[in-house]
Amino acid sequence: MADDCIFCKIGSGEIPSEKLHEDGAVFVIADISPQAPVHLLVIPFEHLASAAEVGEHNAALMRNMTLMANRAARAAGVAESGYRLVMNTGAEGGQSVGHLHMHVLGGRQLSGQMG
Ligand code: 5GP
Ligand code: ZN
Repeated sequence: MADDCIFCKIGSGEIPSEKLHEDGAVFVIADISPQAPVHLLVIPFEHLASAAEVGEHNAALMRNMTLMANRAARAAGVAESGYRLVMNTGAEGGQSVGHLHMHVLGGRQLSGQMG
């Protein structure tokens, strides 16, 4: 748990937020400011600052995050129509919360623009 990290606090329950799915390693919440009809966040309980910190020893976690993102997409009904998985990384990557997370976006035709 990192001090003053909002996603650590949501993970621990210190800040209440409905967890749509969870397993021992990751949980899923709805984004507070959705940018698509489906906008979910897949977040590890463990604090990692960003994807830039992911190393060989985090391979199982990355696998887990991807599988959980797919599970959340299926449950949200966008598995067939398609969705986008995004990990903003660092300042110029547009990351605003310094705790690793994966966005699951879908429910409409997403822009072809990536930045
Ligand atoms: P980033 O910009 O770091 O890639 O994504 C952070 C995301 O977290 C943003 O889309 C933002 O709306 C969302 N977010 C920030 N604070 C909270 C919160 O307290 N609760 C929830 N559910 N989402 C949050
Ligand atoms: Zn954290």
